[in-house]
Amino acid sequence: MKVTVEDSCIACGACESICDAVFSIEDKAVVNEAAVAGNEDAVKEAADACPVSAIIVE
Ligand code: SF4
Repeated sequence: MKVTVEDSCIACGACESICDAVFSIEDKAVVNEAAVAGNEDAVKEAADACPVSAIIVE
């Protein structure tokens, strides 16, 4: 699974709240690629919760 965050991220923190192993907030959400494996369900939940649909899961 590949996870990217688009520039439309507004740094709201929702993804970090749902899965702080994968997402951390700097100027925008940053993905810890190494933590994606094993957290796929939480990543999908975070992508669904993102208010601007900035999390792209491929
Ligand atoms: S939930 Fe979406 S808008 Fe909010 S910090 Fe995460 S990627 Fe950015």
